[in-house]
Amino acid sequence: MSIYNFSAGPAVIPTQVRARIKDEFDCYGQTQTSVMEISHRGADFIALAKQAKTDIIQLMDIPLDYEVLFLQGGASLQFSMLPLNLLNGKNQASYALTGQWSQKAITEAKRYAKVNICTDSTANKFTDVADTSTWDIANDNAFVHCCPNETIAGLEFDGVPNTSVPIVADMSSNILSKKIKVSNYDVIYATAQKNMGIAGLTIVIIKKSLIGLAGNNTPALLNYKNYADNDSMFNTPSTFSWYVSGLIFDWIKQNGGVEAIEQRNKQKAILLYSAIDNLGLYSNPVNPKYRSKMNVPFLLSDDKLNAVFLEKSHQAGLLALKGHKAVGGMRASIYNAMPLEGVQALVDFMVDFEKQYG
Ligand SMILES: *Cc1c(COP(=O)(O)O)cnc(C)c1O
Repeated sequence: MSIYNFSAGPAVIPTQVRARIKDEFDCYGQTQTSVMEISHRGADFIALAKQAKTDIIQLMDIPLDYEVLFLQGGASLQFSMLPLNLLNGKNQASYALTGQWSQKAITEAKRYAKVNICTDSTANKFTDVADTSTWDIANDNAFVHCCPNETIAGLEFDGVPNTSVPIVADMSSNILSKKIKVSNYDVIYATAQKNMGIAGLTIVIIKKSLIGLAGNNTPALLNYKNYADNDSMFNTPSTFSWYVSGLIFDWIKQNGGVEAIEQRNKQKAILLYSAIDNLGLYSNPVNPKYRSKMNVPFLLSDDKLNAVFLEKSHQAGLLALKGHKAVGGMRASIYNAMPLEGVQALVDFMVDFEKQYG
């Protein structure tokens, strides 16, 4: 029986990448040791680190005036680092409130600045988002923050606000899932364990002109400049996580790059949402225009069926479908590494389940 892991994060790793980790585990290249055991200052690790950076720059077509930083602390640490580094003497920042993750970013930002909510999706329970052209952002705000894929409610949008202030985006759960025009943003950040690796690594893609603005009281480890000046090795980086992300970038390259991945992700999402919409037992409340292609929550028409759905799906090799407690029901995360066959297996299961219990 094939096993398919729909976990929201840490999430599925491509089969080929897991196999390669296993192959190389005891002896990385010519090192005669594991990649876990080599110095981050040695030639072998530096070569690996540089290659990963070159690959993500190529895959995302990152312009030359951006720096790519390999950090720790998860996306959650960025909720603090962003205001610490970008306020630049200003005392206000704009935040789009479109889901649970942008809410968490706002909670942290309030420690440092007055937060202006430029759009608010709480009234529709994070199932919809106002067109970005209507977001209300004053020019004296230091930056505007948004989360273009809200992992919990499954809300995804492509628009960017029309503003002169720097635009910051938390793309933790949809980075590398589709073509993104990096120059539309001033900072893009993402934690690795959703769509590009394992926990322990956070990638920050930042306009070079925004590096070096942190105040003197900023802790050294929270200052982007220290990482930018030291190839992200100001202190010991999360070497194994960096290695795994490098393997994933390579896997994306081998599989046709981001364009090909995007096509597969579209197919997968169409397949699953069509089943949700066309079968009688399932529903998804998100505005169809803004349904996430990565995280697909769905409710069963009778909550009493949730437990049996989870039990039977698990028995069928379809893992980690339990929805987030804030939404209930189920959630299927169908990141890059989820093959079309996995989504097909889920849809087949949903059809059978409805026949039996619907
Ligand atoms: C998972 C996630 C986070 C939090 O990541 P951590 O690595 O746990 O800090 C933040 N934002 C989004 C959109 C996420 O999906």
